[in-house]
Amino acid sequence: MKEIVVISGKGGTGKTSITAAFAILGGSDVIVADCDVDAADMHLLMEPDLKISEDFYSGEVAYIDQDLCTQCGKCQEVCRFDAIPIIDGEYTVDSLGCEGCGYCARVCPVAAITNSSQNVGKWFISGIRTGSSMVHASLNIGAENSGKLVAQVKSGSRALAERFGKNVVLVDGSPGIGCPVVSSLSGASFVVLVTEPTVSGFHDLKRVYELVKKFRIRAGCIVNKADLNAEVLGDINSFLSEEGIVLLTEIPYDEKFTEAMTNGKTIVEWDDKLGEIVRGTRERIREILRLQQEKRMKIIFTTKGTEWDSAMDPRFGRTEFFLIYDEGTDSVETYDNRAIESEAHGAGPKTAQKLAEYGAEILITGNGPGGNAAAVLQTTGIEIRVGAGDMTVREAYEAYKAGKLNKA
Ligand code: SF4
Ligand code: SF4
Repeated sequence: MKEIVVISGKGGTGKTSITAAFAILGGSDVIVADCDVDAADMHLLMEPDLKISEDFYSGEVAYIDQDLCTQCGKCQEVCRFDAIPIIDGEYTVDSLGCEGCGYCARVCPVAAITNSSQNVGKWFISGIRTGSSMVHASLNIGAENSGKLVAQVKSGSRALAERFGKNVVLVDGSPGIGCPVVSSLSGASFVVLVTEPTVSGFHDLKRVYELVKKFRIRAGCIVNKADLNAEVLGDINSFLSEEGIVLLTEIPYDEKFTEAMTNGKTIVEWDDKLGEIVRGTRERIREILRLQQEKRMKIIFTTKGTEWDSAMDPRFGRTEFFLIYDEGTDSVETYDNRAIESEAHGAGPKTAQKLAEYGAEILITGNGPGGNAAAVLQTTGIEIRVGAGDMTVREAYEAYKAGKLNKA
């Protein structure tokens, strides 16, 4: 079972619209987990049919027995959260302010205060219109501990997937970088980062990716509303390239996303052109997961010959040959790139475009491509490893497998 977590760091990027579209495309094979428990909205698109509703308790809250209280005021004095106001002449606990620390109960001279588990919300299992199920939740107003509620939603989703033999848990992750996102990411097979080319979108993408990196989870990025700002889009693309994040797709700004949402539909049900982009993106993620599972890659080497023991060509743009090794089928093919020698300019980008046609995941070379070629490669999601210029292809492959080649 695979767990795909969609997060954004920033609200308003289209994360839920895209997650819901993936859910529709996945159909009955996908359990949906709405982990955005503070502001859940997947239900607007999934039309849940409620099957199970459970109270969720987390943390503690103090309670004062007024029959025992002598009104000495000691509890109010020690409460650092100002959670014990006097209401109608009685010392009363404000459950929204109480952190359940228990200090008041310790100082109460007549044992009038007890702590009990706090009901902070509910979690649900519902049938959805894809023919599958969704696990979702609702947090009480002002309630905290949403990280634990997210953990409950995720464990409920996994249990459902295992019980009914589903292959995918699709998680609409929590926003921000706090405890709920940490819970959302825990155990993920792949993370989809949804961003937009705005200053705040880019800033939040970088912040949330710092968190993803700590979990060592492979990530891909969808840049939504990609035509909003070309300069920031360029910065995002450079960042993705530096961090080895796969650029899954760029989606242009289109009000059809909002139109679809307000009509209770996902974009794949509303607009053929945008739907096709989302379909292609989902296929890309499936392919990455398949290769990840098989740990098999298609690897391209820049070489001076066409044999497994040929010398590597340290150049990228003007490499004499490519040798393409498919680990999945254990097959080799080669491409003669020597015609590029007659090109006075733009050899790098032209070579990069050619190379993109092979659908490889890894490029192994010597010095690495220049800026323009790297930009072309970045759009393909190919990871680049450098430092193999003085090796044979065989040695370069072994060095790559041993983790001895550096990322470009
Ligand atoms: S449990 Fe802690 S936070 Fe709650 S009322 Fe008592 S002292 Fe204040
Ligand atoms: S410390 Fe106990 S007795 Fe004193 S005001 Fe608080 S609850 Fe009442």
